[in-house]
Amino acid sequence: MAVDSSSTSKRVLISGASIAGPSLAYWLHRYGFDVTVVERSDAVRSGGYPIDVRGTALDVAERMGLLAKLQAAHIDTRKLTFVDANGAPIAVIPPEALSGDASGRNIELPRGALTTLLYELTQNGAIRYRFNDSIDTLEDDGASVSVRFKSGERGRFDIVVGADGLHSRTRALVFGPEQPFNRYLGRCFNLFSSPNGAGFSHEAIIYSEAGHAAGVYAVGDSDRLHAFLIFAADEPPFLSHLDIDQQRKRTSEVFAGGGWEVPRLVEAMQRADDLYFDTVSQIHMPRWSSGRVVLVGDAAYAPSFLSGQGTSLALVGAYVLAGELAAHPDPKAAFALYEQIVRPFVEANQELAIGGGGLLLPRTPEELDRRNKALAAGDFAADSGEYAAKRRQIHNSLKLPDYRHLLREVSG
Ligand SMILES: Cc1cc2nc3c(=O)[nH]c(=O)nc-3n(C[C@H](O)[C@H](O)[C@H](O)COP(=O)(O)OP(=O)(O)OC[C@H]3O[C@@H](n4cnc5c(N)ncnc54)[C@H](O)[C@@H]3O)c2cc1C
Repeated sequence: MAVDSSSTSKRVLISGASIAGPSLAYWLHRYGFDVTVVERSDAVRSGGYPIDVRGTALDVAERMGLLAKLQAAHIDTRKLTFVDANGAPIAVIPPEALSGDASGRNIELPRGALTTLLYELTQNGAIRYRFNDSIDTLEDDGASVSVRFKSGERGRFDIVVGADGLHSRTRALVFGPEQPFNRYLGRCFNLFSSPNGAGFSHEAIIYSEAGHAAGVYAVGDSDRLHAFLIFAADEPPFLSHLDIDQQRKRTSEVFAGGGWEVPRLVEAMQRADDLYFDTVSQIHMPRWSSGRVVLVGDAAYAPSFLSGQGTSLALVGAYVLAGELAAHPDPKAAFALYEQIVRPFVEANQELAIGGGGLLLPRTPEELDRRNKALAAGDFAADSGEYAAKRRQIHNSLKLPDYRHLLREVSG
């Protein structure tokens, strides 16, 4: 059966319905494109860890009419405490001292709250969502792209966009295997939920030893915590990606004998049914498009969670890509301008991850000692410090182009 794409407007297929995908769908629809989004999960995934929307990305949210809703969903984390092996505080700092953004320019909300808001924004009867499906093959003949879906259905589109995350299948189909584009940052992480037995509230607690760190994140007064166990490893364990038992074993060995709450967290990790393991990696590509296929968000330029900027890059990239496609009938010209405008912003934000790692996970005893001394000396005590100022400048470093004159009167 063929997919209905009978509209005379340009037909765009977007793979991935998380942050970049629905944001792009929203804008493309407003410029009069005919949009289909394919998502391999059976729904927009609503759970998840806290994420940040900052700087220029807040301008995008405002233009989407989402700012007030994001502000209402703001988590309001009040402090980050770095503790020693006995749980005694080394330093207590305000979150904005790390994020670099004074109130109003940094919104932190559960990832699922943002994906749900974006999905709702695109429920206008015109944008089609195909859940439980994904692109199986695609063929770009220069004039259009023929797609065969896993479900067996077929479709023909003018443009295909990969918004399918760090391990993008669209990227693999067009540019080849992930490995040459995956810049491994020397760390692996486990993310899972665990009971909030200690009554943590509106805060994060972080404990570091040389080469590994453990922490918990209490969103509001929830009785569940977002817990993480992160460790340094010289070689990326790509081969163990698929083997959850091996990941659990490796993590337990690394954290054996750890101080603070580590034994309890390792136990919770062993039992967790929502364990999420991955390498801390960025995506670096020489080009984000090929022919009529283009990538956006993590698929093209994941900055890693150490930058805290993945969500913001996805929102900004989607806004500019849609605007350039509306402005230029030739997709190649649009893709080139999208890349020209967004790439310097992406590169500056990816660079932020490098410093972020040293603070969370010093790799050697000397680095750990330096970090603890800096924390104790109050180097990160306020959002007016050098560290915060540099981040703030980079978060805001792209001035958004104005595409308002291209908006069409469309339904929804
Ligand atoms: C542990 C962790 C903590 C993070 N913390 C932060 C933070 O504090 N701040 C921040 O800004 N960012 C953070 N991030 C990063 C942030 O989540 C991502 O950068 C952001 O979600 C990127 O959005 P995206 O839409 O490009 O990709 P994703 O959110 O990865 O979405 C990809 C979508 O594509 C779908 N998909 C995948 N494969 C296929 C396929 N073959 N076919 C169809 N659909 C497919 C997926 O199901 C998913 O819905 C964190 C990430 C992780 C893993």
